[in-house]
Amino acid sequence: MSDSLLEVRGLTKHYPIYGGILMKQVAKVYAASQVTFSLKKGETLGLVGESGCGKSTVGRTLLKLYRPTGGQIFFEGKEITDLSEKEMRPLRQDMQIIFQDPFESLNSRHTVGKILEEPFLVHKVGTPQEREKRIVELLDRVGLPERARHKYPHEFSGGQRQRIGIARAIALRPKLIICDEPVSALDVSIQSQIVNLLLELQKEMNMSYLFIAHDLSVVKHVSDRVAVMYLGKIVELTTAERIYEKAMHPYTKSLLSAIPVPDPTKRAEIQALKGEVPSPRNPPSGCHFHTRCPFAKDVCRTKVPEFKEEATEHFSACHFSQELKDQ
Ligand code: ADP
Ligand code: MG
Repeated sequence: MSDSLLEVRGLTKHYPIYGGILMKQVAKVYAASQVTFSLKKGETLGLVGESGCGKSTVGRTLLKLYRPTGGQIFFEGKEITDLSEKEMRPLRQDMQIIFQDPFESLNSRHTVGKILEEPFLVHKVGTPQEREKRIVELLDRVGLPERARHKYPHEFSGGQRQRIGIARAIALRPKLIICDEPVSALDVSIQSQIVNLLLELQKEMNMSYLFIAHDLSVVKHVSDRVAVMYLGKIVELTTAERIYEKAMHPYTKSLLSAIPVPDPTKRAEIQALKGEVPSPRNPPSGCHFHTRCPFAKDVCRTKVPEFKEEATEHFSACHFSQELKDQ
Protein backbone atom coordinates (compact mmCIF):
# COMPACT_ATOMS: atom_id res chain seq x y z
CA MET A 1 0.00 0.00 0.00
CA SER A 2 2.34 2.69 -1.24
CA ASP A 3 -0.15 5.56 -0.98
CA SER A 4 -0.92 4.80 2.66
CA LEU A 5 0.57 7.30 5.09
CA LEU A 6 -0.80 6.05 8.37
CA GLU A 7 -2.12 2.70 9.48
CA VAL A 8 -3.66 2.10 12.85
CA ARG A 9 -4.44 -1.50 13.77
CA GLY A 10 -6.36 -2.45 16.87
CA LEU A 11 -5.23 0.68 18.68
CA THR A 12 -6.26 0.56 22.32
CA LYS A 13 -5.84 3.05 25.14
CA HIS A 14 -7.14 2.28 28.61
CA TYR A 15 -6.37 4.83 31.31
CA PRO A 16 -5.73 3.38 34.75
CA ILE A 17 -7.63 4.97 37.63
CA TYR A 18 -5.85 4.93 40.96
CA GLY A 19 -7.53 5.18 44.32
CA GLY A 20 -7.64 4.14 47.96
CA ILE A 21 -4.98 4.98 50.49
CA LEU A 22 -2.39 2.88 48.68
CA MET A 23 -3.22 4.56 45.37
CA LYS A 24 -3.58 1.23 43.67
CA GLN A 25 -5.21 0.83 40.33
CA VAL A 26 -8.91 0.47 41.09
CA ALA A 27 -10.49 0.84 37.66
CA LYS A 28 -9.86 1.59 34.02
CA VAL A 29 -11.30 4.02 31.53
CA TYR A 30 -11.82 2.10 28.30
CA ALA A 31 -11.21 5.26 26.27
CA ALA A 32 -10.29 3.59 22.95
CA SER A 33 -10.47 -0.09 22.02
CA GLN A 34 -9.49 -1.95 18.86
CA VAL A 35 -9.46 1.13 16.66
CA THR A 36 -8.45 0.25 13.10
CA PHE A 37 -8.20 2.55 10.10
CA SER A 38 -5.77 3.85 7.53
CA LEU A 39 -5.13 7.23 6.00
CA LYS A 40 -3.85 7.78 2.50
CA LYS A 41 -1.56 10.59 1.41
CA GLY A 42 -3.59 13.77 0.95
CA GLU A 43 -6.73 12.17 2.39
CA THR A 44 -9.02 13.43 5.14
CA LEU A 45 -10.68 10.98 7.49
CA GLY A 46 -13.40 12.54 9.63
CA LEU A 47 -13.64 11.08 13.14
CA VAL A 48 -16.98 11.76 14.74
CA GLY A 49 -18.76 10.89 17.97
CA GLU A 50 -20.22 12.37 21.13
CA SER A 51 -18.01 14.09 23.67
CA GLY A 52 -16.05 11.54 25.74
CA CYS A 53 -16.20 8.73 23.16
CA GLY A 54 -12.41 8.68 22.78
CA LYS A 55 -11.67 10.81 19.71
CA SER A 56 -8.89 12.88 21.27
CA THR A 57 -7.47 9.76 22.86
CA VAL A 58 -7.17 8.14 19.43
CA GLY A 59 -5.56 11.26 17.93
CA ARG A 60 -3.04 11.67 20.70
CA THR A 61 -2.23 8.01 21.11
CA LEU A 62 -1.50 7.53 17.44
CA LEU A 63 0.91 10.46 17.65
CA LYS A 64 2.49 8.65 20.60
CA LEU A 65 1.70 11.57 22.91
CA TYR A 66 0.17 8.81 25.06
CA ARG A 67 1.55 5.33 25.33
CA PRO A 68 -0.79 2.86 23.63
CA THR A 69 -2.20 0.02 25.73
CA GLY A 70 -2.36 -2.21 22.67
CA GLY A 71 -2.40 -2.32 18.90
CA GLN A 72 -0.01 -1.05 16.28
CA ILE A 73 0.71 2.23 14.50
CA PHE A 74 2.53 2.43 11.17
CA PHE A 75 3.70 5.71 9.63
CA GLU A 76 4.92 5.54 6.04
CA GLY A 77 5.09 1.78 6.39
CA LYS A 78 7.32 1.87 9.46
CA GLU A 79 6.00 0.67 12.78
CA ILE A 80 6.25 3.41 15.40
CA THR A 81 4.23 1.80 18.21
CA ASP A 82 7.15 1.14 20.50
CA LEU A 83 9.54 3.92 19.50
CA SER A 84 10.94 5.96 22.37
CA GLU A 85 10.38 9.71 22.52
CA LYS A 86 13.94 10.16 21.27
CA GLU A 87 13.33 7.83 18.34
CA MET A 88 10.06 9.66 17.61
CA ARG A 89 11.71 13.10 17.50
CA PRO A 90 12.71 13.11 13.82
CA LEU A 91 9.16 12.01 12.93
CA ARG A 92 7.54 14.77 14.97
CA GLN A 93 8.00 17.32 12.20
CA ASP A 94 5.88 15.13 9.91
CA MET A 95 3.04 14.62 12.42
CA GLN A 96 1.34 17.63 13.91
CA ILE A 97 -1.79 18.44 15.91
CA ILE A 98 -4.15 21.40 16.00
CA PHE A 99 -6.24 21.76 19.14
CA GLN A 100 -9.77 22.91 19.77
CA ASP A 101 -8.60 25.72 22.00
CA PRO A 102 -5.41 27.22 20.66
CA PHE A 103 -5.31 29.52 23.69
CA GLU A 104 -4.44 26.58 25.89
CA SER A 105 -1.86 25.23 23.50
CA LEU A 106 -0.11 28.53 22.71
CA ASN A 107 2.32 29.77 25.32
CA SER A 108 0.73 33.01 26.56
CA ARG A 109 4.07 34.46 27.65
CA HIS A 110 5.61 34.18 24.20
CA THR A 111 5.10 36.47 21.23
CA VAL A 112 3.66 34.92 18.12
CA GLY A 113 7.07 35.25 16.47
CA LYS A 114 8.64 33.21 19.22
CA ILE A 115 5.84 30.61 19.14
CA LEU A 116 6.36 30.17 15.41
CA GLU A 117 10.12 30.03 15.68
CA GLU A 118 10.02 27.17 18.15
CA PRO A 119 9.44 24.30 15.69
CA PHE A 120 12.43 25.49 13.64
CA LEU A 121 14.62 25.67 16.74
CA VAL A 122 13.52 22.29 18.08
CA HIS A 123 14.28 20.61 14.76
CA LYS A 124 17.33 22.78 14.06
CA VAL A 125 16.00 24.07 10.77
CA GLY A 126 17.42 27.18 9.03
CA THR A 127 19.60 30.12 9.97
CA PRO A 128 18.11 32.99 12.04
CA GLN A 129 17.53 34.97 8.81
CA GLU A 130 15.86 32.01 7.10
CA ARG A 131 13.65 31.40 10.12
CA GLU A 132 12.61 35.02 10.20
CA LYS A 133 11.67 34.88 6.52
CA ARG A 134 9.69 31.68 7.02
CA ILE A 135 7.78 33.16 9.98
CA VAL A 136 6.70 36.14 7.88
CA GLU A 137 5.67 33.78 5.07
CA LEU A 138 3.74 31.58 7.49
CA LEU A 139 1.83 34.52 8.95
CA ASP A 140 0.97 35.73 5.48
CA ARG A 141 -0.13 32.26 4.44
CA VAL A 142 -2.59 31.91 7.30
CA GLY A 143 -3.95 35.42 6.77
CA LEU A 144 -2.25 37.35 9.57
CA PRO A 145 -0.29 40.61 9.17
CA GLU A 146 3.47 40.66 9.67
CA ARG A 147 3.14 42.82 12.78
CA ALA A 148 1.34 39.90 14.49
CA ARG A 149 4.85 38.60 15.20
CA HIS A 150 5.32 41.07 18.00
CA LYS A 151 2.01 40.42 19.74
CA TYR A 152 0.90 37.89 22.34
CA PRO A 153 -1.83 35.23 21.90
CA HIS A 154 -4.34 37.07 24.14
CA GLU A 155 -4.29 40.04 21.77
CA PHE A 156 -6.04 37.97 19.09
CA SER A 157 -9.59 36.74 18.52
CA GLY A 158 -10.42 33.01 18.67
CA GLY A 159 -10.28 32.65 14.90
CA GLN A 160 -6.95 34.47 14.69
CA ARG A 161 -5.51 32.31 17.45
CA GLN A 162 -6.53 29.23 15.52
CA ARG A 163 -4.67 30.71 12.52
CA ILE A 164 -1.58 30.96 14.74
CA GLY A 165 -2.07 27.33 15.80
CA ILE A 166 -2.33 26.34 12.15
CA ALA A 167 0.78 28.33 11.23
CA ARG A 168 2.72 26.54 13.93
CA ALA A 169 1.44 23.14 12.79
CA ILE A 170 2.42 23.69 9.15
CA ALA A 171 5.77 25.38 9.89
CA LEU A 172 7.80 22.28 9.05
CA ARG A 173 5.51 21.07 6.25
CA PRO A 174 4.12 18.01 8.00
CA LYS A 175 2.59 15.03 6.22
CA LEU A 176 -0.13 14.44 8.79
CA ILE A 177 -2.17 16.81 10.94
CA ILE A 178 -4.56 15.67 13.64
CA CYS A 179 -7.19 18.41 13.62
CA ASP A 180 -8.78 17.90 17.03
CA GLU A 181 -12.07 19.83 16.84
CA PRO A 182 -10.30 22.85 15.34
CA VAL A 183 -13.48 24.84 14.83
CA SER A 184 -15.71 23.62 17.68
CA ALA A 185 -14.92 26.61 19.88
CA LEU A 186 -15.34 29.21 17.14
CA ASP A 187 -18.33 31.30 16.06
CA VAL A 188 -20.19 29.70 13.19
CA SER A 189 -19.31 32.66 10.95
CA ILE A 190 -15.59 32.03 11.53
CA GLN A 191 -15.74 28.24 11.29
CA SER A 192 -15.95 28.09 7.51
CA GLN A 193 -13.02 30.49 7.08
CA ILE A 194 -10.82 28.23 9.18
CA VAL A 195 -12.09 25.09 7.46
CA ASN A 196 -11.39 26.66 4.06
CA LEU A 197 -7.89 27.65 5.12
CA LEU A 198 -7.21 24.07 6.24
CA LEU A 199 -8.51 22.74 2.93
CA GLU A 200 -6.35 25.13 0.88
CA LEU A 201 -3.25 24.25 2.85
CA GLN A 202 -3.99 20.56 2.49
CA LYS A 203 -4.12 20.90 -1.29
CA GLU A 204 -0.93 22.93 -1.47
CA MET A 205 1.05 20.59 0.74
CA ASN A 206 -0.68 17.26 0.06
CA MET A 207 -1.18 16.69 3.79
CA SER A 208 -3.39 14.01 5.33
CA TYR A 209 -5.87 15.04 8.00
CA LEU A 210 -7.58 13.17 10.77
CA PHE A 211 -10.38 15.66 11.28
CA ILE A 212 -12.10 15.23 14.63
CA ALA A 213 -15.54 16.69 15.32
CA HIS A 214 -18.46 15.88 17.59
CA ASP A 215 -21.11 16.06 14.91
CA LEU A 216 -21.45 14.88 11.37
CA SER A 217 -22.34 18.24 9.86
CA VAL A 218 -18.86 19.72 10.33
CA VAL A 219 -16.93 16.84 8.77
CA LYS A 220 -19.27 16.56 5.80
CA HIS A 221 -17.51 19.26 3.82
CA VAL A 222 -13.97 18.20 4.56
CA SER A 223 -13.83 14.40 4.66
CA ASP A 224 -13.09 11.83 2.00
CA ARG A 225 -14.12 9.10 4.45
CA VAL A 226 -15.78 9.24 7.84
CA ALA A 227 -15.37 7.04 10.92
CA VAL A 228 -18.03 7.13 13.64
CA MET A 229 -17.00 6.34 17.21
CA TYR A 230 -19.12 5.25 20.13
CA LEU A 231 -17.74 4.53 23.61
CA GLY A 232 -14.18 3.94 22.49
CA LYS A 233 -14.85 1.97 19.32
CA ILE A 234 -15.27 2.77 15.67
CA VAL A 235 -18.76 1.51 14.83
CA GLU A 236 -18.93 2.54 11.17
CA LEU A 237 -16.42 3.69 8.56
CA THR A 238 -17.00 4.45 4.91
CA THR A 239 -16.78 7.16 2.26
CA ALA A 240 -18.23 10.55 3.10
CA GLU A 241 -20.85 10.04 0.42
CA ARG A 242 -22.03 6.71 1.79
CA ILE A 243 -22.08 7.74 5.42
CA TYR A 244 -24.65 10.43 4.64
CA GLU A 245 -26.66 8.39 2.15
CA LYS A 246 -26.31 4.75 3.19
CA ALA A 247 -25.45 4.62 6.88
CA MET A 248 -25.91 1.12 8.30
CA HIS A 249 -25.16 1.46 11.96
CA PRO A 250 -28.07 2.53 14.17
CA TYR A 251 -25.79 4.93 16.04
CA THR A 252 -24.75 6.68 12.82
CA LYS A 253 -28.39 6.81 11.75
CA SER A 254 -29.35 8.52 14.95
CA LEU A 255 -26.51 11.03 14.63
CA LEU A 256 -27.70 11.78 11.11
CA SER A 257 -31.26 12.25 12.23
CA ALA A 258 -30.02 15.02 14.49
CA ILE A 259 -28.79 17.04 11.50
CA PRO A 260 -31.53 19.26 10.11
CA VAL A 261 -32.34 18.39 6.49
CA PRO A 262 -34.38 20.42 4.00
CA ASP A 263 -36.78 17.54 3.40
CA PRO A 264 -37.28 15.53 6.60
CA THR A 265 -39.40 12.86 4.87
CA LYS A 266 -36.24 11.71 3.09
CA ARG A 267 -34.73 10.33 6.23
CA ALA A 268 -35.77 7.19 8.04
CA GLU A 269 -37.66 8.00 11.21
CA ILE A 270 -35.21 7.50 14.01
CA GLN A 271 -35.81 9.37 17.19
CA ALA A 272 -33.08 11.27 18.92
CA LEU A 273 -30.97 9.02 21.11
CA LYS A 274 -32.56 7.94 24.34
CA GLY A 275 -30.73 7.76 27.62
CA GLU A 276 -27.29 8.84 28.70
CA VAL A 277 -23.98 7.71 27.26
CA PRO A 278 -22.82 4.87 29.55
CA SER A 279 -19.56 5.36 31.41
CA PRO A 280 -16.40 4.26 29.59
CA ARG A 281 -15.26 2.91 32.97
CA ASN A 282 -17.93 0.28 32.74
CA PRO A 283 -19.10 -0.10 29.15
CA PRO A 284 -22.17 -2.28 28.47
CA SER A 285 -21.65 -5.94 27.58
CA GLY A 286 -21.92 -7.19 24.00
CA CYS A 287 -22.49 -4.26 21.67
CA HIS A 288 -21.70 -1.09 23.65
CA PHE A 289 -24.60 0.63 21.95
CA HIS A 290 -27.31 -1.88 22.92
CA THR A 291 -28.56 0.17 25.89
CA ARG A 292 -29.58 3.00 23.56
CA CYS A 293 -30.27 1.17 20.33
CA PRO A 294 -33.84 1.11 19.01
CA PHE A 295 -33.13 -2.19 17.22
CA ALA A 296 -31.34 -4.11 19.99
CA LYS A 297 -32.11 -7.83 20.35
CA ASP A 298 -30.84 -10.41 22.83
CA VAL A 299 -27.67 -11.16 20.88
CA CYS A 300 -26.65 -7.50 21.14
CA ARG A 301 -26.46 -7.78 24.93
CA THR A 302 -24.12 -10.75 24.90
CA LYS A 303 -22.07 -10.80 21.73
CA VAL A 304 -19.58 -8.14 20.61
CA PRO A 305 -20.35 -7.35 16.96
CA GLU A 306 -17.48 -7.71 14.55
CA PHE A 307 -16.30 -4.59 12.67
CA LYS A 308 -16.53 -5.91 9.16
CA GLU A 309 -16.85 -4.89 5.54
CA GLU A 310 -20.59 -5.12 4.87
CA ALA A 311 -20.42 -3.48 1.46
CA THR A 312 -17.48 -2.30 -0.66
CA GLU A 313 -15.37 0.05 1.47
CA HIS A 314 -18.13 0.16 4.04
CA PHE A 315 -17.36 -1.20 7.50
CA SER A 316 -19.89 -1.51 10.28
CA ALA A 317 -19.99 -3.18 13.69
CA CYS A 318 -23.61 -4.22 14.14
CA HIS A 319 -25.21 -7.69 14.22
CA PHE A 320 -27.96 -6.34 11.99
CA SER A 321 -25.99 -4.25 9.49
CA GLN A 322 -27.36 -6.24 6.58
CA GLU A 323 -30.98 -5.90 7.70
CA LEU A 324 -30.60 -2.19 8.48
CA LYS A 325 -28.61 -1.42 5.37
CA ASP A 326 -31.46 -0.25 3.21
CA GLN A 327 -33.70 1.26 5.85
P1 ADP B 1 -13.41 12.88 23.20
O1 ADP B 1 -12.22 13.53 22.61
O2 ADP B 1 -14.18 12.03 22.24
O3 ADP B 1 -14.31 13.85 23.90
P2 ADP B 1 -11.50 11.73 25.09
O4 ADP B 1 -10.56 10.92 24.27
O5 ADP B 1 -11.04 13.06 25.52
O6 ADP B 1 -12.90 11.84 24.31
O7 ADP B 1 -11.91 10.91 26.39
C1 ADP B 1 -12.38 9.58 26.35
C2 ADP B 1 -12.60 9.12 27.78
O8 ADP B 1 -11.35 8.99 28.42
C3 ADP B 1 -13.43 10.08 28.62
O9 ADP B 1 -14.22 9.32 29.50
C4 ADP B 1 -12.37 10.85 29.39
O10 ADP B 1 -12.89 11.31 30.61
C5 ADP B 1 -11.30 9.80 29.58
N1 ADP B 1 -9.95 10.38 29.66
C6 ADP B 1 -9.36 11.20 28.76
N2 ADP B 1 -8.09 11.49 29.13
C7 ADP B 1 -7.88 10.82 30.29
C8 ADP B 1 -6.75 10.67 31.19
N3 ADP B 1 -5.58 11.30 30.93
N4 ADP B 1 -6.91 9.90 32.28
C9 ADP B 1 -8.09 9.27 32.54
N5 ADP B 1 -9.17 9.35 31.74
C10 ADP B 1 -9.07 10.11 30.64
MG1 MG C 1 -11.74 15.59 22.45
